[in-house]
Amino acid sequence: MATIIDGKKISLEVKAELKEKVDKLKEKNVMPCLAVILAGNNPASQIYVKNKITSCEEVGIKSLAFTFGEDVSEKQLIELIETLNADKTVDGILVQLPLPKGINEEAVCSHISDSKDVDGFSPYNVGGLVLGRDSFESCTPKGCMRLIKSTGIDICGKRAVVVGRSNIVGKPMAMMLLKENATVTICHSKTENLAEITKEADILIAAVGKAKMIKADMVKNGAVVIDVGMNRTNDGLCGDVDFENVKDVAAFITPVPGGVGPMTIAMLMSNTIKSAEKRL
Ligand code: NDP
Repeated sequence: MATIIDGKKISLEVKAELKEKVDKLKEKNVMPCLAVILAGNNPASQIYVKNKITSCEEVGIKSLAFTFGEDVSEKQLIELIETLNADKTVDGILVQLPLPKGINEEAVCSHISDSKDVDGFSPYNVGGLVLGRDSFESCTPKGCMRLIKSTGIDICGKRAVVVGRSNIVGKPMAMMLLKENATVTICHSKTENLAEITKEADILIAAVGKAKMIKADMVKNGAVVIDVGMNRTNDGLCGDVDFENVKDVAAFITPVPGGVGPMTIAMLMSNTIKSAEKRL
């Protein structure tokens, strides 16, 4: 039976560390500030934004929330982003995706200054990760790295398999594992013999968006299994990993909910503070 990696508990530890950093910044008259932009009526987005604002309060970060209806224009969003870019008291800008239909998300988000892109999605910050430079790292994979490290395993030289190659999770995840000297394989929807590949993984990351698709017979005995998936099913929220059966094979496994999710927000706070520290 695997050890359950408690993302909620670890995220609280991270937030406690971050609060200390915020207190030090405040002593030097720097008040870290995150601006969150929400457009439209997507219920999941509303919950995510609320959770992000609550986390800001917990850590001591000032949050600014800007909300728009479904009828918002690209011009309005871009003008707001440009105003926030110019505001020296704002350290991070986050546009909650998805934006309403008809809005070009890339066109809008490309206006966020690289120095305030605390989501780590901009080409500059993604490029920085690839080149091994100091940049904002995408929050979800950054949180996954912290969870993997919490197990105490040495990542160096291990076989890591990332299932999923999205720009916000799969690809940066693979780069972060490579940076830690894992031998990394990326799988996707065109991968042949997926199970053969996943079964070789000492560290297996599932970031697909298909409920319970990683079965016990796809997992190596003793593997560390990180489940990024968040799938809403009739049985409630579940991950990409068949948790009930995989936990009997893996050495460590994250639950859904309570695994990767809380870490993503903690890393958003971490990136915002990192940005604020540049004001010193
Ligand atoms: P995307 O839909 O952008 O990417 C999914 C990836 O999975 C694609 O690369 C796709 O391949 C691959 N894929 C699809 N089907 C298969 C298959 N049968 N076998 C192998 N690979 C497959 O999703 P995201 O990366 O944005 O998110 C993935 C999951 O993680 C979702 O459930 C999402 O909700 C969750 N998530 C959770 C977060 C958290 O904080 N916990 C944050 C972000 C995401 P291809 O490229 O070939 O199409």
